[in-house]
Amino acid sequence: MSREPLLLRHPWTGERSRFGLSEDAASLAEKAARLRAGQPDWAARSPEERAQALVALREALARRREAMLAALFADTGRVRESALEFDATLATLSRWAEEAPKLLAPPPAKASNIPFIQAKQRYEAFALVGVISPWNFPLLLALIDAVPALAAGSAVLIKPSEVACRFTAVLEEAIAEVPALSSVLAMALGDGRVGALVLEQVDLVCFTGSVATGRKVGEACMRRFIPCFLELGGKDPALVFADADLARAARAIAWAGLANAGQSCMSIERVYVEKEAYPAFLSALCAEVGRLRLNDEDPAVGEIGPIIAERQVEIIRSQLEEAYALGARALVGGRVVERHGGFWCEPTVLVDVHPGMRILREETFGPILPVTPFADEEQAVALANETEYGLSAAVFSADPQRAERVAGRLQAGAVSINDASLTSLVHSAEKTSYKCSGLGGSRMGPASIMRFLRKKALLINPGVEDPWWFPRA
Ligand code: NAD
Repeated sequence: MSREPLLLRHPWTGERSRFGLSEDAASLAEKAARLRAGQPDWAARSPEERAQALVALREALARRREAMLAALFADTGRVRESALEFDATLATLSRWAEEAPKLLAPPPAKASNIPFIQAKQRYEAFALVGVISPWNFPLLLALIDAVPALAAGSAVLIKPSEVACRFTAVLEEAIAEVPALSSVLAMALGDGRVGALVLEQVDLVCFTGSVATGRKVGEACMRRFIPCFLELGGKDPALVFADADLARAARAIAWAGLANAGQSCMSIERVYVEKEAYPAFLSALCAEVGRLRLNDEDPAVGEIGPIIAERQVEIIRSQLEEAYALGARALVGGRVVERHGGFWCEPTVLVDVHPGMRILREETFGPILPVTPFADEEQAVALANETEYGLSAAVFSADPQRAERVAGRLQAGAVSINDASLTSLVHSAEKTSYKCSGLGGSRMGPASIMRFLRKKALLINPGVEDPWWFPRA
């Protein structure tokens, strides 16, 4: 493998252009060594000093808003979501700068279970953290784990997706303006081969991506006995009970399933509706989805952006074709269309679907809502759990006790009640995925930063004379 420019495709125009240089084994090892050399000084700074550097990065990024939004448009073909993604990234930096110093204070020394032995707990940051990220929110997902890792005192090497990495040019400029960070934060461009090389260089891995790649990453990390945190795909269900406010539920589900053209891990991809409410809910959902427009004429107008990754076009098309062949019908939308070199999936409501169809079993990552009626709570829970995924879910009911009871039975790391995909907005609640949707401690909430710390115990005998039971000389 040699160092070559990446060939990137613009999702809105289909144009291809060269960008940057991918790493090879030697350049990557050099980068990792430079970060390792910088890390002890970084870790020796106080948490407050590290927080100041994160605030400085936030400011350097905020000054580059226009350039970053242009890069994110070229990476993803969307305008509105890119602005939201940018703002969420700035908020991530502010939040960790504020919270990390409080969370990193070591607990006071205390007596251990052996009364005369004192236990002091130390935290030591893993020296070099590798972050491997996907294309759907390229900036946010490159930084979501990198920021708490830096705050904890680690150096970070980010391998962004080879599909959408133009944003790194702007991010690198911003990092260069913060000298304290530039020796402990770097990016490595390239495809999965470079990702695999990253796994050989680092001490801990945060991976966000598909289940198939996550499995390879997990296996490689286990071979080296290094911790890895996997944030993988989903097939999130929404359950709508007949007593729910159906108009609100339809609006929430349309938003949660179709925002970012369905290209979010926590998109609603399966909708189950109590049969009494099925016709009314369907007509409300079709009205909501029917109002949404592609942004194919003017990127700033319309709610549904292009399919970002070219390989996803075929996945969406083939799932739709198979579903139609097995009897599904589209009440709204239903096609993937090509416009001036880009591909869009029409916002779609599908009915007459069944679990034999891939569109109900596999992640689609498109703006498609398959809707199925259910008879009662038992069946609703069984249908929702009938999947290899367990990322998040949503329950709509006017009965709070039922909503919480059902949420408790769903095999999902987070359940939104009378709303959907709230994990995209709420960062303070901890969650761990079920089944194939992930592995390892929570990325959300205060526990997130603890992932980057080794816990070291200092066990101190204050000088108690001869506590050992062996005979004395
Ligand atoms: P992907 O698995 O194809 O790629 C993700 C990253 O892994 C890329 O940077 C890629 O270059 C790298 N990679 C590929 N092979 C590798 C290997 N052998 N070793 C190391 N790295 C390797 O995923 P994608 O298509 O970029 O992203 C979409 C997927 O990400 C979807 O499944 C989506 O659900 C998931 N996702 C999950 C979350 C979450 O928080 N759970 C968030 C966003 C996206």
